[in-house]
This record gives sequence, structure tokens and C-alpha cells, in this order.
Amino acid sequence: MLEVAAALEIVLQHARPLTPEPFPLDSQSLGQVLAAPIQSDIDSPPYTKALMDGYAVRANECTTPNTVLTVIEEIAAGQMPTKKVEAGQASRIMTGAPLPDGADAVVPHEKTTLAGTQVTLQTAPRVGEHILERGREMQRGETVLTPGTILRAQEYGLLATVGHTSVSAYPLPKVGVISTGDEIVEPDQRPGPGQIRNSNGPMLLAAAVFAGGLAQYFGRASDTRAELTALVREAFDEADIVILSGGVSAGKFDFVPEVLAELGVTTHFHKILMKPGKPLLFGTNQEKLVFGLPGNPVSSFVCFHLFIRPAIRKLRGETDWGPTFVPMPLACDFTTDNNRPTYGPAKLELTEQGISIRPLAWFGSADLRGLCGCDALVSVPAGRVSYQAGQTIPALLLNLA
Ligand code: AMP
Ligand code: MG
Repeated sequence: MLEVAAALEIVLQHARPLTPEPFPLDSQSLGQVLAAPIQSDIDSPPYTKALMDGYAVRANECTTPNTVLTVIEEIAAGQMPTKKVEAGQASRIMTGAPLPDGADAVVPHEKTTLAGTQVTLQTAPRVGEHILERGREMQRGETVLTPGTILRAQEYGLLATVGHTSVSAYPLPKVGVISTGDEIVEPDQRPGPGQIRNSNGPMLLAAAVFAGGLAQYFGRASDTRAELTALVREAFDEADIVILSGGVSAGKFDFVPEVLAELGVTTHFHKILMKPGKPLLFGTNQEKLVFGLPGNPVSSFVCFHLFIRPAIRKLRGETDWGPTFVPMPLACDFTTDNNRPTYGPAKLELTEQGISIRPLAWFGSADLRGLCGCDALVSVPAGRVSYQAGQTIPALLLNLA
């Protein structure tokens, strides 16, 4: 049976970044990924500037405290100095104002006393103290942001500094979700005999949005070829990635694999050596990706985070799409015994001793309630394994990029 790493490689081979488009830098594009490098059109700071309110001085003549200097002018932010600071002189300067010629340091206001035009320094400044030289942050023509950068608040600020109000970015992948199963009713309904509510639909839509996609629900298909075919067709018309939950195992009414084949989908794999999530199906329809997830909610959740989240991140232009498992020390002893490599829910614990991870008890692949306390998945090999508290275990941290 195909191993997780090999399956992930197949998925990522077929997941290609979408075509970049221009986007205005409004709240809608927050979190999108930059597609072209950004160059600065300015030196920043554009002049050597004061970083504190205080006095611009010549540091090498103020080597002892209690130096007394004559104040020759006052420079506010937005004004240019008109006088050079000569020996024995200082200029009063405000944060952000250009440093006058002759000066090479700023002494903060709190460390001075003024009497008339004479200022006494209580400290001996170093050359360069409390000033930022012209072009120190960036120089004109320099690349300040590279493709693959996720646009967050700080990038918005930098883009504004260099005069960009729009950028070339990757569009968000459209993720279509279809729930399948005769027994599934929508969450606003009371399940009748033999029925359960559709938890995968809302869960997968939320997961797709959290992963950085645009999610759309296409509805629930009963276990019939006709209904499945109609919904999958609709989803292929709209979405870049189509996710189906249920109907992909070996049951008599599991029609998803054959319906996908009839619709021209090439199946790249069906079944994986992992627990939960063994029946996972992955296929492509030209550039579109399709995942058939096992219906059990925990299986769907695990498959989503191992395979679909990385695919979404690659389509949306991220350069680091994961999943990245990091070694985390266990908060407690932990013994597992599984017939396949297994991914189980776990919780991070933040204590004064540091961060550790505690595997959570769960009652199999239908236990969504058990999953709600988790913020990581831990990976354990097949067979009986005993870990001791403090030993590290690979964990996928779900809330981190
Ligand atoms: P299946 O993969 O269709 O064989 O379904 C496996 C199990 O998952 C069954 O117990 C289903 O009732 C359950 N299941 C399937 N789809 C959903 C869903 N959308 N929400 C919650 N449970 C589901
Ligand atoms: Mg089913």
C-alpha cells in the first residue's frame, strides 16, 4: 500500500500555483501571497534621522557627562535643518527629523537640562546613537519583498512605504466541498432513524478557509450515481480543488471512485498506508484536483491536514506548504499499538518549563468531540511503541503556518 510520503509527493506534483493577478491592497487581499518581487523606489530613511526627541550633537566632543553646548536651532519632523552643528553647539531635534550637518548622535531630552540657550548633557553619547542613517533600512532599487511572501500587516506597511497600492498576487484557490451519504442530513435538521448530521461539510469548509482557500459548499449527494455525478460536475465548473466526503470505501453504495472515473478524472491513488484515512482517493481532472475523503470525521480531518492543506497552500503561491512535523517533547508517557502508521490528536501545553505535547484520548475515527481539544497531530509508526515523558515525537502544529 502507498505510504504517506509517496502519496504526498504525488499530490504536490499535481498541485500547481494558480496564475497571478493584480490585486488592490485592501482588506480582501490580506493573507494572499505575493507573486512578483517588490523594489523600493526610495532610500529609507530618506535622510539620516533622529530616533528620539533630544539634541543633535557631535559625539566626540561630549566624551564626559556635563558637557555644556549652545543650542542653535530647533528642527521639527518635516523640516530641514538650516544650520550646521559646529564645535560647542547642538540643535534641538524631534523624532523623525533630519539630522543637521556636523552632528552624529542624538542625546535624548530626558538626559539633558536646558538653561536659556545652554544645554547640559548628563550622558556621553556614542557616535551613531539614536540616529538612523539614510538608506539603512533599504536603498532605492533594492528588492524588499520576494515572491512567496504572505501579505500580513507588516508587509502592508512596507508596501505603503515604497508606494505600492496594488500588487501581483496569487488568487485564492476555490475549494468545493460535497458531502455524500443517504444517512446524512444537514445540521439544521433533526436526524431521523438511521440518520446523522453532516459534520464533515462545515468542518471541511472551515478547514479550507483556515488553510487560505475560498470555500464553497455544493450540497449533499445521496448514494446514487446520478446525484453524485450532478454535484461533482457543478463543483468542477467552479472549483480548483473538489473535496468529497464519504462514499470512497469498499461499501456497496460507495460510488465516488466510479463516478469520478466516468467524469474523466484520473485516479492517482486510492488507499494509503495510514490510520485513520486509509481509503483516501486522489485524482485530477486536467488542472483540477479532487480528493475523496473517508466519511468518518476524524479521518477526513487528518487527510485534510496531511494532503489537502499543503495542496491549497501550493496553489495559493506559498513556497513552504508543509506539512511540517516538528519534534516536540511529550508531556506524559505514551504507548501506542497500531497496525499502520498513525496520526492522532494532541494538545500543546505551555508551561514555565517550555512547550510540550500531550496526546489526547479519542474513541476512533468518528470522535469529533475528542478532536476539538486538539491543536496538533502526532505521528507514530506501526507496531507497539512506548515513549517516555520528555522524549520527542513528530507533531504537526495545526494553528501554525
Ligand atoms: P463512508 O466513508 O461513506 O463509508 O462513511 C463512513 C462513516 O462516516 C459513516 O459512519 C458515515 O455515516 C460517516 N459520515 C459520512 N459522511 C459524513 C458527514 N458528512 N458527516 C458526518 N459523518 C459522516
Ligand atoms: Mg457513505
